Amino acid sequence: MNYLVFKSLHIISVVTWFAGLFYMPRLFVYFAEAETRIPTERKILQDQYKIMQRRLWYGITWPSAIAVLIFGSTLASQFWPITQYPWLVLKLIFVAGLYAYHIFLHSIFNQQQDNNTSFSPMALRIINEISTIFLVAIVFLVVLKNVLSMVYGIVGLFVFVAILLTAIKAYKKIRENEVLNSDQITLDKLKLINNSSDDWKQKLNEEEYQILRMCGTERPFSGEYYLFFEVGLYACAGCGHELFSSETKYNSGSGWPAFYDVVGTENVRLIEDQSIGMKRIEVRCAHCDSHLGHVFEDGPHPTGLRYCINSIALKHHKP
Ligand SMILES: [Zn+2]
Repeated sequence: MNYLVFKSLHIISVVTWFAGLFYMPRLFVYFAEAETRIPTERKILQDQYKIMQRRLWYGITWPSAIAVLIFGSTLASQFWPITQYPWLVLKLIFVAGLYAYHIFLHSIFNQQQDNNTSFSPMALRIINEISTIFLVAIVFLVVLKNVLSMVYGIVGLFVFVAILLTAIKAYKKIRENEVLNSDQITLDKLKLINNSSDDWKQKLNEEEYQILRMCGTERPFSGEYYLFFEVGLYACAGCGHELFSSETKYNSGSGWPAFYDVVGTENVRLIEDQSIGMKRIEVRCAHCDSHLGHVFEDGPHPTGLRYCINSIALKHHKP
C-alpha cells in the first residue's frame, strides 16, 4: 500500500489513542472523588464510571495503541538505517515512554475495576497531564525533524511543564476560594494557613498530611472513629481546635464518622467543591484550614445535615 495511506491511518490511530489517554484519567478522577459519597450514591456513580472506563479502554484506547504500533512500524521501516534519522530515534524513545504511560494507566484501570483507589483525586489530576507532555514533545519533533531544535524544544517543554503545574495549583486555589461561611479570616488565621508544607510535613505523619493538607480521603470503614461512640469532643488533628461533639455523632453507614452538627459554625469553613461536575461542600477547620471532609444535606433531624469527616482529621478526647 501507498506510504501516504499508511501515514493517514497512522495519524488517525494516534488521534484516537490520545483521545483515550486524555479522557481515561478524567474517569479515574471521577471514580476516586465518588469515594466520599454515601454508599448508595457511591455505588451507582462508581458502577457507571466503571462501565465508561471499560468502553473507553477496550473499545478505543487499546485498539488505537495497537494500530499505532502496526502503522508506525510500517512507516518506520521506510527510514533505514534508522541511525541516519536522529529525530526519529528520539521520537521512538518518546513513543516508548508513551506506551509505558499506557501500561501504567492500565494498572490504575485494573485497580478501579476492582473497586480499589490507591491514588488521590489530586494525584490523578497530575497523572492526567502526562499525556499532554508526550503530545507536545512528539509533535514538535515530527514537525521540526531536527534534533538541534529539539534542544530548544526540551527547554520549552520544561517551561511548559512548569506552567502546567502552576496552572493546576492555581485551579485548586480558585476552587478553594469560594467561602460559603461569612466568617472573617483574621490575621493570625492567615498566618496558620500560610504555614509552609514543610512545617506540616514535620507536624503530621504521612497519612494525616495526605488527608488534612492534600484534601485526601481515607478508605471507608478503615478509620478509628466510624463506629466509635464514646462521650467526648472531637478536635482538629491539625491544630487541636474543638469541632464536633459526641452528642451529634451518629452512624450514617457510609464508613466515615458522621455528625449532624458542629460545635460552633465559626469553627469550620465551608467551601464549594465543583469537582466531578457536582456541587459538594467541603468542610475545613476554620482555624488551620485543614481539610476535614464534606457536608451533605441528607442528615437526620434536627439539622438535616451530615458532616462526613475523615477519622484521621479528628482527635477524640473526654470532656
Ligand atoms: Zn485545625
